[in-house]
Amino acid sequence: MAKTKFIFVTGGVMSGIGKGVATSSIGRILQSKGYSVTAIKIDPYINVDAGTMTPTEHGEVFVTDDGLETDQDLGNYERFLDTNILSGNYMTTGRVYLSVINRERNLEYGGKNVEVVPDIPLEVILRIKKVAKTTKADFVMIEIGGTVGEYQNVLFLEAARMLRMEKPQDVIVFLVSYLPVPNKIGEMKTKPTQYAARSLNSVGIQPDFILCRSEEPIDDVRKSKIALFCSVPKDHVIASPDVDFIYEIPVNYDNEKLAEKILSSFKLKKKKNDLTKWKSEVERIRKIDREIRIGVVGKYFNSGSFVLADSYISVIESVKQAAWSNGFKPKIEWISSEEFEQDPKSINRLKEMDGVIIPGGFGSRGIEGKIKAVEFLRKNKIPLLGICYGMQIICIEFARNVCGLKGAHTTEIDKEAKYPVIDIMPEQKKNLREKNYGATMRLGAYPAEIKTGTIAYEAYKAKSISERHRHRWEVNPEYIEILEKNGLVFSAKSPNGKLMEIVEIKQKDHPFLVGTQFHPEFGTRFMKPQPIFNAFMKAVVKGKK
Ligand code: GLN
Repeated sequence: MAKTKFIFVTGGVMSGIGKGVATSSIGRILQSKGYSVTAIKIDPYINVDAGTMTPTEHGEVFVTDDGLETDQDLGNYERFLDTNILSGNYMTTGRVYLSVINRERNLEYGGKNVEVVPDIPLEVILRIKKVAKTTKADFVMIEIGGTVGEYQNVLFLEAARMLRMEKPQDVIVFLVSYLPVPNKIGEMKTKPTQYAARSLNSVGIQPDFILCRSEEPIDDVRKSKIALFCSVPKDHVIASPDVDFIYEIPVNYDNEKLAEKILSSFKLKKKKNDLTKWKSEVERIRKIDREIRIGVVGKYFNSGSFVLADSYISVIESVKQAAWSNGFKPKIEWISSEEFEQDPKSINRLKEMDGVIIPGGFGSRGIEGKIKAVEFLRKNKIPLLGICYGMQIICIEFARNVCGLKGAHTTEIDKEAKYPVIDIMPEQKKNLREKNYGATMRLGAYPAEIKTGTIAYEAYKAKSISERHRHRWEVNPEYIEILEKNGLVFSAKSPNGKLMEIVEIKQKDHPFLVGTQFHPEFGTRFMKPQPIFNAFMKAVVKGKK
């Protein structure tokens, strides 16, 4: 296809209605018609990237292959579109302003007065076009964070308006809106969506499609109402009811012939029709009735009196995918490690789990509870996958309780630790000294070499792998020998042999106790479980209670 088409996705009424999944699903059905698709996420924050935000504030920090700390929606794009999304596909207000200001400092505006409008939207457009050029995708989807009517995303909407002015044939705009059914009224209300469409109109944008998020599918009467009051053809008002699991959504959109409608807006035709495998997989998953219980021992769950699973979304999707691939539905249970510190007996709860994951983390809160959890899982032979911090904690527990190094710790918590089995990477010391925190961790994909005859090799069936990282600390090289002597196996290392990438305990001693310094959860795609998660799940299923 010669000219790239641009699809903006905006949100109305409220956040959290699944705009990221909607964007991914629209992309997926366009792919199924024979077109290539990429997706961009725009976050309205001043933060230059998502790396400095706490997960309870912002949700998971998703790391791209080329090492940018971004929004969890990029993870959805990758899992749905089965393609790597790179750093150019992520923007924040801070990022955009920073490059405009830097350019101004370099005299690149030639002495001109640099202004919020049009220079900020022009920078946004530049970045969007760059993605089109480098990916050569037929469709570039652009999801604008937040909801229309907020101050924060106005400049991004302005970019959408300007790009449409420039290329009227090549740009369409979606409004993903929410239609509530208030309890006492018992009727689906369209008014908030009408206001959202008007908010878009007030910044010069007429939506082409309205995706109606609601509990039950929107009915015909209300579709007509929205069409009339929001000036959208009725067949562009699309039902998007709640689903049991998100991978059903492309199937629903396909049933609504959404891809065909989008293609016809651009005067394009479908080249093939290929959602069959996806559909049959969704059907297969729906029929799975065997369940396994997976505990996630972490700490980034609580937001007021609500439990937020968003901090671990890629871990959850990886667990689900691996479980489905092995014919099980996972029941994921959130276990706060601080509980084990306050009430030591509560650790017995882990016995009810078929397998446990200790995901990545930072800082001291809850760490002793996690160390206790590892000890319990090791002794009770319950499958455990430790990710990043989880892997480091496996090493600390092993040093303390198997190697007899009482007082072993990470220098992240205890700078004076008697046995600093986990220590800061030499190149990271300067960053911390200079308070240079933003985007300075060891980030993105790095290669690792796997030792044959190990659980890791069995999982990957490959000698070299590449996985994504996000850390400053590492296994202290001075403790490798003693850990190995006592039975810990370092089954994958960086190519120069210096960095420990996977640790494990021999399978004859434990069904599955593996830790990865990298984040395997960023490698999962729908229908393609990530190898380490898959190996973990096979062990879980084998030992299922
Ligand atoms: N806090 C640890 C480190 O920086 C682990 C980070 C993580 O789990 N992502 O090394």
